[in-house]
Order: sequence, then structure tokens, then C-alpha cells
Amino acid sequence: ARSSIAGEISFDHVTFRYPDTEEPILSDISFRALPGETLAIMGATGSGKSTLLQLIPRFYDTAEGSVSIDGQDHEGLKMESLRRAIGYVPQDIVLFSGTVADNIRVGKEEATMEEIIEAAKLAQIHETIMRFPNQYDTVIGQMGVNLSGGQKQRLTIARALVRKPAILLLDDCTSALDVRTEAALLDALKAMNCTTLLVTQKVSSTANSDRILLLDDGRLLASGSHTEL
Ligand code: ATP
Repeated sequence: ARSSIAGEISFDHVTFRYPDTEEPILSDISFRALPGETLAIMGATGSGKSTLLQLIPRFYDTAEGSVSIDGQDHEGLKMESLRRAIGYVPQDIVLFSGTVADNIRVGKEEATMEEIIEAAKLAQIHETIMRFPNQYDTVIGQMGVNLSGGQKQRLTIARALVRKPAILLLDDCTSALDVRTEAALLDALKAMNCTTLLVTQKVSSTANSDRILLLDDGRLLASGSHTEL
């Protein structure tokens, strides 16, 4: 079952510095994503896209402004409820030398095989897994099958989806997918109805986004639909 969080995200004049940086990495960022909406976040390297995503699960706390979930400042939510509502796929993928199923189950140890397969299907990796020597029991890494970059990305997305998050944060994790696979994945995500923030470098990834946020040196330069920008 889903958490009781509906998944509205709002940033209200958020300015952020890392503990060891003087200059703000994010400056006066305000935007809102309604439950079920998909927002693409674009901008040059170093513009603050990953940092923006990481503020949502409180990997860092904001000093100025606020981040709210369902209209409530997320600092007022229990960390456990907040994190349970969020599926976060980082840029740097971490798989371990275990089975495919175990790698998807991370973060939800009690997931059933049915739930694992459902998540893998949504992440467009099920058919690939079925071609592995031992399917979901295939061991990943030196002892077993080696995965391509795009397969690792999809497996990590499946890991986030098996938790049925209300909020999905994807940090440039579709970069290695071909256009067709990516489109199928984004359609599947759209159908899941979770609020999705998608950091991407590719305009093709923004096709079914409700809005695009364009960051420039920590500032929100523009926000609008695919056709508006
Ligand atoms: P990319 O597209 O390359 O992933 P990005 O837009 O996601 O970049 P961030 O990773 O958010 O950008 O980084 C924004 C700025 O914050 C950069 O100048 C970076 O050097 C700095 N930065 C990132 N992480 C930290 C950290 N842990 N401590 C201090 N500064 C950091």
C-alpha cells in the first residue's frame, strides 16, 4: 500500500549552500508539482539539478525558504515517513553482487516476487531479465551476468518502483537508454501517477513532462511546457 502522502511538492524561496560553500548552490527557487505531475529539470552541468533533488528527502537541510510535501514543511514530517514516500534514483548506480531479485528488493526486503516482477516490467527490464540464465535468480557482477549501462539504470529504477513511492526522483538515470525504451519507460511511469522529478540532459526525455524547470547557476531561469520554452 502507498503511504498516506499524496505527493505534492513545493519549493518556496529555497536558497541553499553546502556546509563548506560560501556561494549559494541554489538561489531563491520556487515551484510546485501537483500529485501525479512530471517535471523535467534541465540545465548545464553544475547548475544544481542533483542538489535540488537531494533536498526533497532531506539529505541536506535548507537554511532559507522551505520545501513542503502536501503543503506541510517536510522538516515537520517524520524522516521515516518522508523517506518511505520517496523513490530516489541517483546518478551513480550501486548494484551489489547478489541476484537480480535481491538487487531490486533493496529498500523493501519484504517485496514479493510478484511485486518485483511488476516493478521490473514498469522499468522495462523484465524481458531482459527473462533472457538471463537464471532469470530473477541470476547473480549480477563478476560471479554472474554483466549488465550494460542501460540495464543497470533500469534495474535501479525498478528498485525505486518496487517501493511504490508517491514521489519519484530520477537523477539523469535514463541517459543510457535508447529513445524507444526511454519513451516506453516514461509512459509506464506516467501511468503510475506518482509525482516525478526527472533530471535530464535530453530534450527527448521531456516529451511527457507537464513542465520543464530550467536551472542556470542555481537559479530558476525559466519554467514552462515543452512548447513554451
Ligand atoms: P550535473 O549535471 O553535472 O550532475 P548538477 O546540475 O546536478 O550537475 P549539482 O551536482 O547539484 O549540479 O552541483 C551543483 C554545484 O554544487 C556544483 O558547483 C558542485 O560542485 C557543488 N556541489 C555538489 N555537491 C557538493 C557537496 N557535497 N559539497 C559541496 N559542493 C557540492
